[in-house]
Amino acid sequence: MEAKRKNEKESGGHLLSNMKFRVCVVCGKLYKVGRFYTCSEGCHERFVDGIVEEFGESKRIVDAVTGTAYKVPTREVLERGLRHEDLKKYPKWKEP
Ligand SMILES: [Zn+2]
Repeated sequence: MEAKRKNEKESGGHLLSNMKFRVCVVCGKLYKVGRFYTCSEGCHERFVDGIVEEFGESKRIVDAVTGTAYKVPTREVLERGLRHEDLKKYPKWKEP
């Protein structure tokens, strides 16, 4: 009984929010923060592949200030996050 309660505590996300752990979105393991979304290189690859499959190789990202749309590789959005000043280095999005 005691062990079961302990287990529930460990899997409850909010109880761990003060600690520097996250849950891997691919395999569900807890990992120390420091990387986005996943616990390891292998899970990261699976995660990115899944997103690219679903959303395509590039994403249309709109600069909220100028209204210009850019074509940004989905992988880069996921791996680096995107800062406003980074947008300019990507090609402009061409409407089909
Ligand atoms: Zn994982």
